[in-house]
Amino acid sequence: MSPPLSVPPRPQLAVPPSPRFKLLGRPVGGPRSLWAWPLLLSLLFVAGVLVWMIRSEADERDARRAELISDALTLEAQLSGALEAETARLKALADDMGVHHTGPESFDRHALLLDGLRRFWVSVTWVDAQGRIVAQVPDDALPANAPLRAGSSERGRAGHLSVGLPGKKGLLVARYSYASLLRQRVPWWLARKYDIRVLDSADDVIAATVDGERAPDQLWYRKAMGPAMAQGWLELAARERVTPWWRTLPMALMGGFLLLVAAASWMLRRQMLGVERAERAWRTEAAWRTAMEDSLAVGLRARDLDGRLVYVNKTMADMLGYQPEELIGQMPPMPYWPQDEQEESMRRHLRNMAGQAPREGYESRWQHRDGHVLDVMVFEARLVDAQGRHIGWMASVLNITERKRLEERERRQADTMAHHSRLTMLGEVASTLAHELNQPLSAITSYNAGVLNALQRHDHPDPLLLGALQRLGEQAAHAGRIVKRIREFLTRREPQRERGDINQIVRAAMDLQRRDLLRHGVVLNLQFDCALPSVLVDPILIEQVAANLVRNACDALAMRTGSRQLQVVTALAPDGRFVKVQVTDNGPGLGGQSIETLCAPFFSTKAEGMGMGLAICRSIVELHYGALDAEEAPGGGAVFSFTVPCWREGESFDMDDMDDTAFESPAAVDTSVLDIAATPKESAS
Ligand code: ADP
Repeated sequence: MSPPLSVPPRPQLAVPPSPRFKLLGRPVGGPRSLWAWPLLLSLLFVAGVLVWMIRSEADERDARRAELISDALTLEAQLSGALEAETARLKALADDMGVHHTGPESFDRHALLLDGLRRFWVSVTWVDAQGRIVAQVPDDALPANAPLRAGSSERGRAGHLSVGLPGKKGLLVARYSYASLLRQRVPWWLARKYDIRVLDSADDVIAATVDGERAPDQLWYRKAMGPAMAQGWLELAARERVTPWWRTLPMALMGGFLLLVAAASWMLRRQMLGVERAERAWRTEAAWRTAMEDSLAVGLRARDLDGRLVYVNKTMADMLGYQPEELIGQMPPMPYWPQDEQEESMRRHLRNMAGQAPREGYESRWQHRDGHVLDVMVFEARLVDAQGRHIGWMASVLNITERKRLEERERRQADTMAHHSRLTMLGEVASTLAHELNQPLSAITSYNAGVLNALQRHDHPDPLLLGALQRLGEQAAHAGRIVKRIREFLTRREPQRERGDINQIVRAAMDLQRRDLLRHGVVLNLQFDCALPSVLVDPILIEQVAANLVRNACDALAMRTGSRQLQVVTALAPDGRFVKVQVTDNGPGLGGQSIETLCAPFFSTKAEGMGMGLAICRSIVELHYGALDAEEAPGGGAVFSFTVPCWREGESFDMDDMDDTAFESPAAVDTSVLDIAATPKESAS
């Protein structure tokens, strides 16, 4: 295992969101009116503050009013109390005058009278029972309703207190100044807090602590005075005004705040519109980019500096059988590295991460999710961000599996061509050989016939010799026929198909191998179906095929030490149109080799083998529109089989009737392979 990548923290590659999915949903920016939310929230906030301020103002008014009423009641009680006390003092003066028989001459020296004048009595008038003024102190007192002491600071009119003198001798009337009353009796803190007025029943001001009228916005309260000053009213108007909520400082601040928020919202809206325009442009561009990337035949892969996959296009994902999301975020070892090339892949990965990937690209092998292996060509390039920082690697990937396959096929075709040219040469040799053999074989047959005739002319010919010569003649004729057929093939003539009995043909082939079978002690098991239909074949060629399969089986059994068994079966193929010949042995088996390998020209596992037998057999069988097959026998050993077509009454063999997939067309049969077949096999037989 290669050491893990140790890299210092680097700027991360921002993975661009895949527009493929975003395009289906809502725009990323949310509702377009989002910019108005701060403004709306600010308005709500300001409305809340307004309600609070209005309520606070109302509460303050109520509190002030309650305080005002309380103060008015208290002051009225104080003033009424003061007047009642003055009335009591006047009464005490009257009583004292009655007790001491005070006369008009000593009236103005009476201590209680002087004391009253020192307080706020303006004058005291003694009126007799007839209503005449007996005495008046001071003399220059003004009439009751005249303004008091013109030119003085006292303002307002005077009030009266009157009590009867004992013995119904008259009345004492004390005039007092309301202004003095207010000045003396109103506490200073109350006078600072309120404008205090005393009014008569006609709303005329009798006395006041301030000049001028009551302002309309002043909070005021009026209280009727007590019996000491019936018909009079006491009015208190608060000096301190309750500022209306809309003229307060918080209100001004709120206004400014709203203006600022409105300006900010306007700027935000402009900004958002700009962002929206940019986003639309980006999305269009992303859609274009995705479409272009998806239409590319080239896979694209981006990795960050740690080797993590941060982007793959669809082509790349499809190439490997994954979804892009499954690959993004993966770290080495990648899921598409072939199991048997993990180390090699990791080495290549580290090399690429070190920036040493070949500029001209490199070939690699990746594994598809379904297991098949791909050949790819990878071109790596540096990935830089907007600031020019190196943030990863971008690779374009070409699937060159098909190209490699074609190259391999071309190479194999070239090999085959080379084989073919060698085989053609061999064919020429075989052709010459067959031609040359024809002559001596004819000579053998002729001499044999001559010797036979000569012997038969004798009286007592040796029957053994005669028999041997007859079989010699037959074998020479058979050899001649073989050579003739071979020559016909070499001259590219069609096989001589005729109606035949497959059991006979196979038996003849077995006869050819009898000696070898006996030598190796092979136990034969022949299962010939006697009810088989006739076949349409070239008997000589099919006999060679059967003989070759039996010879191979015999060779395989020769390697075996135990019992050697060979089974040859003839039967009707399942489709009823072919007859099948099957040769089974209990030898070492095929060792996992396919029929393609076994039939490849020159494939042989034998020291002296030429490796052409099965290739020729296959060509012959396919020339008959049949098929040659091989498989391992269930109990060990090999099973070789071939099929040949049945003969049908009044019908020549028609290729259109045959199943195309069962064999290649005759044109594709490699007759050059066939050409050399007979020579080694025939010589062996
Ligand atoms: P050759 O006999 O010259 O080797 P063939 O084409 O006849 O050439 O056979 C090719 C190869 O197929 C053989 O070398 C052998 O390995 C294998 N083969 C053929 N028949 C059998 C069999 N019955 N059992 C095991 N292997 C066989």
